[in-house]
Amino acid sequence: MTRHYDPRKRILVTGGAGFLGSHLIDRLLARGDEVVCADNLFTGAKRNIEHLHDHPRFEFIRHDVTFPLYIEVDQIYNLACPASPIHYQHDPVQTTKTSVHGAINMLGLAKRLKARIFQASTSEVYGDPAVHPQTESYWGNVNPIGPRSCYDEGKRCAETLFFDYHRQHRLDIRVARIFNTYGPRMHPNDGRVVSNFIVQALKGEDITIYGEGQQTRSFCFVDDLIEGFLRFMDLPKAQDGGPGFPGPINLGNPGEFTIAQLAHKVIQQTGSRSRIVHRPLPADDPMQRRPDISRAGELLDGWKPQVQLDEGLQLTIAYFDRLLSEGSATPHIQAA
Ligand code: NAD
Ligand code: UDP
Repeated sequence: MTRHYDPRKRILVTGGAGFLGSHLIDRLLARGDEVVCADNLFTGAKRNIEHLHDHPRFEFIRHDVTFPLYIEVDQIYNLACPASPIHYQHDPVQTTKTSVHGAINMLGLAKRLKARIFQASTSEVYGDPAVHPQTESYWGNVNPIGPRSCYDEGKRCAETLFFDYHRQHRLDIRVARIFNTYGPRMHPNDGRVVSNFIVQALKGEDITIYGEGQQTRSFCFVDDLIEGFLRFMDLPKAQDGGPGFPGPINLGNPGEFTIAQLAHKVIQQTGSRSRIVHRPLPADDPMQRRPDISRAGELLDGWKPQVQLDEGLQLTIAYFDRLLSEGSATPHIQAA
């Protein structure tokens, strides 16, 4: 399949000052697009986009997606939502609002503009999965009333809204279910496992494994993920001769590791003397997670992750090492 791309679009990226959003914006600008980043800076940081300050094709708007946005663009990537458990549990009502009202507002905008719209969904829609690895046809195993529900159910409801706008209003949607992704520009104190372990190891602090560390995750390096976003978004619509596939598609790296294995890799790669300590396993923490990425491979020109965990960790460790030596790590948002 040949990929098709019309250069120089005006593209809105919500959540563009965050970890994934800022990498996405770099790629869009590098290929010639104009980018508007809308972000309320809840978990994002100006630092992630400060290198774009004087870029002639970049614009930042401080905006909360739970309110409507009036703007003219050709495409929308909707990434606005805190992604780490301590951030999304900090104000759970706001998290659900961000996913649900944010989706309604961005879908309304896309409908008025007849613009293609991408949704950053998540492997959390599968909850604590009883099917392994997870295929897109699996409906999931989600607790609707637990501490993770504000995120999981918010993202599930957003998917529902995307597919209803697609069916009801013929909106051109692209829904990607993202599995754990890591890399430079993760928030150093956001509590996600890769950033936590690396920062702890570099500071010589205890490495905190929750539970026995036998739960698994599959870790995707950010560059691979963003390549998947762009290929998915660039698939032509059905009337242009393409598959016009709305999704959902899984995007992630199928390499699966226990959390204990990750801790050992980080210790080894940093040469740290940190000790491993165990802390209680949070409620509803999924026991296993691995994407089946066959659908993405078939649709997206053979897309598959190129950076494996050892190499990706090296790049991420180098980033945090620089960040810590500059003293730019900011304090925790405490869980509610
Ligand atoms: P992040 O926290 O670094 O970025 C999220 C961005 O959204 C931040 O810049 C934040 O300030 C902004 N934001 C939050 N609430 C907002 C609101 N109401 N209005 C406007 N902006 C708001 O997280 P990330 O890892 O970059 O995640 C980006 C998206 O990808 C999220 O939607 C997340 O759910 C999804 N996702 C990420 C992963 C991952 O492993 N990184 C996995 C699955 C899904
Ligand atoms: N985890 C851990 N120690 C930490 C942070 C996380 O053992 O310091 C575990 C967490 O319990 C979960 C896994 O690592 O089993 C991944 O956690 P993360 O918050 O990165 O993502 P998610 O649970 O949303 O996949």
